[in-house]
Amino acid sequence: MVETTKLEEIYTVLKTVDDPELPSVSVFDLGMVHQVLVKDNLVQIKMVPTFAGCPALDFIEMNVKKAVEELRWVKNCQVEFTMEHQWSTDAITDKGKTELKKHGIAPPPENYRPGDEWTVNCPYCDSDYTSMENVFGPTACRSILYCSSCRNPFEAMKPVVIQPLNS
Ligand SMILES: [Zn+2]
Repeated sequence: MVETTKLEEIYTVLKTVDDPELPSVSVFDLGMVHQVLVKDNLVQIKMVPTFAGCPALDFIEMNVKKAVEELRWVKNCQVEFTMEHQWSTDAITDKGKTELKKHGIAPPPENYRPGDEWTVNCPYCDSDYTSMENVFGPTACRSILYCSSCRNPFEAMKPVVIQPLNS
């Protein structure tokens, strides 16, 4: 099998591995897959952890490994979280954002800059008439907000931007 076909197969698998905290949003759509290397029947996947506060990394690592090793030609898959690269909420794909909304989770604001006022649109009715209910959501990555238009509480992912190291 040619290497590019192998890569495609792996990416197809990665699009089916969900973040355990965000069901039906794949690790691929969350922008966590940094690099996939294939050598014969060995696979190495470098991933970027999302929010530092998320305790699910071991679980994700295990799920990715298991899913990729189900491919018939894969003998071993090594999954590694690299700290060399920073993840930001900009890495979430459009599909990932759509899936988040389906779960009542507002995707993080686009083009957010640190210090900017942070507003999100309601994932149900798209109104921006929303207010922060509880900064401490169910996980470190999410906040609880309330939509004053459709009167639904919803969750929002906090924006994470790549900070220049020397600032
Ligand atoms: Zn609403």
